[in-house]
Amino acid sequence: MATRIVVCPHCRTRNRLPVERLGDHGRCGSCKHALFTGAPIELDAPGFDAHLAADLPIVVDFWAAWCGPCKAFAPTFAAAAQEFEPGIRFGKVDTEAQGSLAARFGIRSIPTLILFARGRERARLSGALPPAEFRRWLTANT
Ligand SMILES: [Zn+2]
Repeated sequence: MATRIVVCPHCRTRNRLPVERLGDHGRCGSCKHALFTGAPIELDAPGFDAHLAADLPIVVDFWAAWCGPCKAFAPTFAAAAQEFEPGIRFGKVDTEAQGSLAARFGIRSIPTLILFARGRERARLSGALPPAEFRRWLTANT
């Protein structure tokens, strides 16, 4: 049976789930909270590494509170999380609070979106996209 490692967004425990049960509102075996909440996960460096090492692709929004286009894009990103989970994880990195992550990925402008699959960067784009285009970009790269 095909399974996927899913990292709990609350406690970072690695849970192994059968592929066909990913969408079943599963709960973490450790903390018992929902494995998918339909919302982006705020990531610090350890959280980022944990989710990168899981089986699901993850798209990360590198943003900052002072950035107008980031704020404008946030609802689009949140809506996509609802739509694309559990196939894709959604994470957010506050580039002010997590400067080391921003430096690690050479973030020069925000928002920057990076899609990771199997621990590696698969696609990157800078600048906010309208919802339909963002959806197309996600579908094309996963
Ligand atoms: Zn948990």
